[in-house]
Amino acid sequence: MAKATVKIPTPLRPFADGHAEVAADEADVGSLVRRVADTYPGLKRHLFTTDGTLRNFVTVYLNDEDVRYLQRDATPVKDGDVVSIVPAIAGGAPPARAQTPPTMLPVVPNAPSDALDRDELRRYSRHLLLPEVGVAGQKRLRRAKVLLVGAGGLGAPAALYLAAAGVGEIGLVDVDEIELSNLQRQVLYSSADVGRPKLEAARDRLEALNPGVRVVTHPGRLTSENALDVLRPYEVVVDGTDNFPTRYLVNDACVLLGKPNVYGSIYRFEGQASVFDARRGPCYRCLYPEPPPPDLVPSCAEAGVLGVLPGMIGMIQATETVKLLLGTGEPLYGRLLLYDALAMRFRELTLRKNPACVLCSPTATQHGLIDYPAFCGVPAAGAAPAGDGLPEISPEELKAELGGDDPPTLLDVREPNEWDIVHLPDAHLIPRGELADRLNELTGARRLVVYCRTGGRSSQATRLLLDLGFSNVRNLTGGITAWAQRIDPSLPTY
Ligand SMILES: [Zn+2]
Repeated sequence: MAKATVKIPTPLRPFADGHAEVAADEADVGSLVRRVADTYPGLKRHLFTTDGTLRNFVTVYLNDEDVRYLQRDATPVKDGDVVSIVPAIAGGAPPARAQTPPTMLPVVPNAPSDALDRDELRRYSRHLLLPEVGVAGQKRLRRAKVLLVGAGGLGAPAALYLAAAGVGEIGLVDVDEIELSNLQRQVLYSSADVGRPKLEAARDRLEALNPGVRVVTHPGRLTSENALDVLRPYEVVVDGTDNFPTRYLVNDACVLLGKPNVYGSIYRFEGQASVFDARRGPCYRCLYPEPPPPDLVPSCAEAGVLGVLPGMIGMIQATETVKLLLGTGEPLYGRLLLYDALAMRFRELTLRKNPACVLCSPTATQHGLIDYPAFCGVPAAGAAPAGDGLPEISPEELKAELGGDDPPTLLDVREPNEWDIVHLPDAHLIPRGELADRLNELTGARRLVVYCRTGGRSSQATRLLLDLGFSNVRNLTGGITAWAQRIDPSLPTY
């Protein structure tokens, strides 16, 4: 037996009474993690499948090594060891360095007259003073083509710095329009841009920052049909997506095309970054072979995110991109950088190539792109919401029923801090994650209407309640946001 510490990642802390770490005496990693799951039963379904094996979107590290490459569950622990649970989120060690020396991207030949002009010499003078960049490096950046998938929290700072650095061509993929709630972190946009397509506003801002940069916009979603064509012309792909289907799509397309994928992801106060390049190290699927089921993954819109956090991670992605283009320094190949803004601490974990990776191993079984929304268990973009087939009630119908003789019981499945922003009168609050444990609070309710912010979490909660035997449960279509827009405009939306 040895006394070791298990670090609980932020997304799972609500299921461990808020603890960031738990100490226990056990002989091996498997017993240690099981002990923690026994202590906090809410953690169990997040960590283990029903047959008791560790879920494969949860990676367990002993100190900085992935236990899959040690002795898995049987890996012995010593006093003082730290076991980290690293779940997939919607983002060096000397041996890794030895295996993955910095590798320059293919040299792009110079154009016939490619001297830096007078303005460029002044604009980039602080680069030119660095021997690691110099005139040759600056010309290399000018010839570079970088694709940013997502022009949101991560893409915004990355795009600004890459444009400022003089990356010659920046491609942008995004479908969204700018919302007021984006401006807390998406520093590419201004208040006057609210309502504009992100791609348009981004192009204006980047070209104003540096007229020497060509901004190529790719409106529309990245899909299995178009991804290879969109990615092909670019040398480096920066993954600033906010959802698992696109993340796996970007990874797989990069592996198939042999391109580096500069990865970043954020969750509340924590971020991850790495550089995946299957030619030189692991890919994203080596780390997380499968995505977590959608009901275990809150999005930024549900969970919140500290505004400065994507700035830090997006700038790490921009830094790695510039290093790859210049062929200088040590890229984050085979290393997962973890950033905790609250503790102001960086940690680094060693990533290994999965010898059984379906995509990048010699025994790969997948040789093309697949249906990613289906793979991730979420409805395709633009398709019916997750509540497809569930009993639904519109805001107008609910208003009529609430004014009638036998009003239904309202169940709010958001988080308490969202409740504090706005809630419906006489509603009962049980956050979605606590629902299964607090069913006793609903025993008196004959007819339930479940709501959340926009209808996603509440449709999962409705499905859960129906599966558990509640017969009269309906989901409020569009959530409290639709209610505020169509029934009571005095209520704030967020
Ligand atoms: Zn792989």
